[in-house]
Amino acid sequence: MFLEIKDLYFRYRNSKDYALKNVNFSVEEGEIICILGESGSGKSTLLRLISGLEIPQQGSIRIAGKTMVDDVTFVPPEKRNVGFVFQDYVLFPHLNVSQNILFGVREKDKSKREEILYRILKMLKIEELRDRYPYQLSGGQQQRVALARALAMDPSMVLLDEPFSNLDATLQESIRREIKDIIKSTGKTCIFVSHDKEDAIELADKIAIIHKGEIIFYAVNSVFRSSI
Ligand code: ADP
Ligand code: ADP
Repeated sequence: MFLEIKDLYFRYRNSKDYALKNVNFSVEEGEIICILGESGSGKSTLLRLISGLEIPQQGSIRIAGKTMVDDVTFVPPEKRNVGFVFQDYVLFPHLNVSQNILFGVREKDKSKREEILYRILKMLKIEELRDRYPYQLSGGQQQRVALARALAMDPSMVLLDEPFSNLDATLQESIRREIKDIIKSTGKTCIFVSHDKEDAIELADKIAIIHKGEIIFYAVNSVFRSSI
């Protein structure tokens, strides 16, 4: 298994209720998983734990055979090799598209950086946007740049938080398909969260339903579809 989550419990410091309870699930390499749940069910929190932005009170997370967190271990976010695309994109407003994409890339050699940039721009079909600033981009374009920035660091896994929520319905459908193709072509493991069943059905290999911090269903897409 590529990602293994065991007996995870998490409570925010200022809260008496657990945001995540007894979360157990595994993801195989190259799979796209949708975490489906209502607002407040714990989706973002789960991504924050996987990426290392929060530390669980109990339980363990392993990625690619290595323990990221358990009772005695904590690997910080920058050492997890996990790409994270936040709900509101958070591109750096003062950097253009190329600079945004290359921001976290460690490669120092100028021509190699240019190669990485070119490959990513091409993969996401945003070559013509390379010199634009975030305010000059539509929602769908910003979404693509945010994904480009995450993929440029060549993460072993990408986490997407409500990737389609800020896009209008027609755009959602086309971007959904595009993003699926892009992620499948990279072979990267992907976990995305959504409150929209259509997102799950269109994109995911497997679907987990989270309710009040607990995973109450986890199955392959076809099983999910026949159960609704
Ligand atoms: P979702 O992403 O499914 O909308 P969240 O993971 O954001 O849900 O939230 C899960 C629960 O944790 C909710 O009850 C929410 O109010 C609470 N929560 C989220 N962030 C914080 C925080 N920083 N401090 C305290 N409680 C939080
Ligand atoms: P989501 O879209 O994932 O549901 P929200 O809009 O609920 O996220 O939360 C936005 C921000 O507010 C997040 O950073 C989250 O951690 C924080 N937050 C959410 N619920 C609470 C809470 N009960 N107390 C403190 N911060 C919260």
